[in-house]
Amino acid sequence: MNHLERLSPVDFVEFLRQEKIRRFYLAYDPAAKTVKSSHPQLQPLAEFLRADGRDFAGHEGLFFQVTEKHGTLQGAFVHRTCRGQAAGGVRYWTYDTVEDYLRDGLRLSKGMTHKSALAGLWWGGGKGVMARRPDVDSENPDVRRDIYSEYGLFLSSLQGCYVTAEDVGTTVADIASVFSRTRFTICVPPEWGGSGNPSVPTARGIVCAMEAALEFAGKGSLGGKTIAVQGMGNVGGPLIGFLFEKGVRRIIACDIDPRTVDSVRRDLAGRDLAARAVPRGDTTIFGEKCDIFSPNATGAIFNPGTIPQLQTGIVCGAANNQLEDPVRDDSALLERGIIYVPDFLANRMGIVNSADEQSGCLTHDPLIERHLARDWEYSVFRTTLRVLGESKRTGEPTGRIAVRQAEKLSLEPHPIFGHRGRQIIDSLVEGGWAKSGI
Ligand code: NAD
Repeated sequence: MNHLERLSPVDFVEFLRQEKIRRFYLAYDPAAKTVKSSHPQLQPLAEFLRADGRDFAGHEGLFFQVTEKHGTLQGAFVHRTCRGQAAGGVRYWTYDTVEDYLRDGLRLSKGMTHKSALAGLWWGGGKGVMARRPDVDSENPDVRRDIYSEYGLFLSSLQGCYVTAEDVGTTVADIASVFSRTRFTICVPPEWGGSGNPSVPTARGIVCAMEAALEFAGKGSLGGKTIAVQGMGNVGGPLIGFLFEKGVRRIIACDIDPRTVDSVRRDLAGRDLAARAVPRGDTTIFGEKCDIFSPNATGAIFNPGTIPQLQTGIVCGAANNQLEDPVRDDSALLERGIIYVPDFLANRMGIVNSADEQSGCLTHDPLIERHLARDWEYSVFRTTLRVLGESKRTGEPTGRIAVRQAEKLSLEPHPIFGHRGRQIIDSLVEGGWAKSGI
């Protein structure tokens, strides 16, 4: 079969079963500039990656397994580990094709490299991705426990080159199931000694980035402003509350889940909150006149169809990979005179909040709080000002500048462990990892 990437995840799992493959890898060989697959039958996927100029960026290693129960395709995407173990949450999501699944993992893991590096964390970049099956009841707690426990075993087998965390489709309760089978996870429930759900700190970080963007634009503080918020979930909901606390006058918000809209509306009764439930695919929020447009739902929302609709001077939100095409849409926002705060700069507090939990947790941790302050050079506020300032000076779009700064930092070796993640990957490949767990 030559085009495995075109299969649906369910058909791909069936193919793997027929070939008696439970675990496999696709590992990059930087010297030969090739991608090596653990099984000859999967070489077409390795070739697909090698030939891809869009999302594959020399990712050090991609590891996969099919769960014994429920036949779920699980992956660990390790982009770069110079600064430390690859870290990033595990997404549990629906994908039409293996290509969509791979692209999501490739983009998200690279984004994590940039996010952690720009935040000054000693972590590399990685991401977990699990494909939901339509024939599996993903909301059933027993099913979830099975799937996430098997993910924990999978991570143990990977010997720490990737450390997982909470992400879209994954809850802190799911992380508890992962943690029951591996030490290689963060965002562990607080009652088990971890930092828990990172969404509230993420929302606080977005507020700092918004304040920096307003200051840069000469528009003062958040007081009296109008903000449009897409997505009112774990980040968007608390964000709306924080913005009103900062004196924002009016918030226009939407979500595709009417229960979420009702719950946030109830919590903020008496505030000037125009919140509405919208059908999936609705783009009316893009046309709302506002000072800041804040995307907090899904990625790839800015494209040639939505950018012309925007009636805002600033874009700043938590959603990962907001630009459908990172080069084209970065430039398009600049050309429209809209200040775009790169997503991985604004939303760093999720990983910052959990980054050091293995070294113990503090109630008001200065290593976390400094990211939200204004006196530390690498805080969200000052990093945002720096990126926007360089964009103004050079005329380059902000995303490109932030990526350039992050790329440079991401190649710095860890001060104690060096490029240990790469060594772990090499030892997994040489040690026949793909035959483990059978
Ligand atoms: P969430 O699932 O709790 O909330 C997302 C909300 O968006 C949901 O309520 C959903 O119904 C809604 N939504 C989905 N599609 C929509 C659409 N087209 N229009 C309007 N609403 C829509 O997720 P979250 O944890 O709040 O994260 C939001 C985004 O921020 C995600 O892209 C996530 O990857 C990113 N992010 C989150 C964190 C974190 O700490 N939670 C950290 C970094 C980045």
